[in-house]
Amino acid sequence: MIIAGNWKMNMDRAGADLLARDIADRASAFENPIQIVVFSSSVFFQIVGAHTTTAVTLGGQDCHHKASGAHTGDISAPMLKEAGCEWVLLGHSERRTDHGESSELIAAKAEAALLAGLKVMICVGESLAEREGGQAYDIVTAQLLASLPEGVSASSLAIAYEPVWAIGTGQVASPEDVDKMHNHIRSILEGRNLSYAGVDILYGGSVKPENAAELLALPNVGGALVGGASLKADDFMAIVACAEGVS
Ligand code: PEP
Repeated sequence: MIIAGNWKMNMDRAGADLLARDIADRASAFENPIQIVVFSSSVFFQIVGAHTTTAVTLGGQDCHHKASGAHTGDISAPMLKEAGCEWVLLGHSERRTDHGESSELIAAKAEAALLAGLKVMICVGESLAEREGGQAYDIVTAQLLASLPEGVSASSLAIAYEPVWAIGTGQVASPEDVDKMHNHIRSILEGRNLSYAGVDILYGGSVKPENAAELLALPNVGGALVGGASLKADDFMAIVACAEGVS
């Protein structure tokens, strides 16, 4: 079970320090092995990294598909690794939209990340128009198949199903819809020989302490990717507590 916080372009130095410290302190009280990942801005890697433990690890929010070169403003996977990251988040809908990232580019980034020794969390999810048009499964299937890198092992991969219409809107997907989509994603992964137990499929989209327990109890939900609620230690750790309760 993984609970990941996507801090996006939020926080300042003092806030990042306080929140990361608080998460690590509270995580040390949990008995079950809930894996916590903090996807912070790279500007705060050093600050957040100072609080990482075996239970709380650091992740980057993106990486370039090349290891080095003339790519102003970008960060490579080896740089993330050297900065203390264990994970990289790839294909978040905000990057697919804001930066026009294709699934093929995401697969190339994932290959670069794996080569650098990082674990990759790949996001997929349909828009509201696509769901209303009955295309949710086709879209997620196409995104997933095109975003998966070659030769990935189950232990280096997590998938986050994040319906775009649920991100930051307070409109969480129903447990029935999450269950169906996660089962669907699981069957695609198994078709690629990625073992049943090995790949955590996280749900993301308006996860809060109030809805987390029901979602995390679903059989094919292996965790949550949390945006807004990851910025408050009380909310985030309440979600971690729900994960602890069902694992
Ligand atoms: C996200 O940005 O990945 C996310 C799930 O955000 P929120 O929890 O705020 O919906």
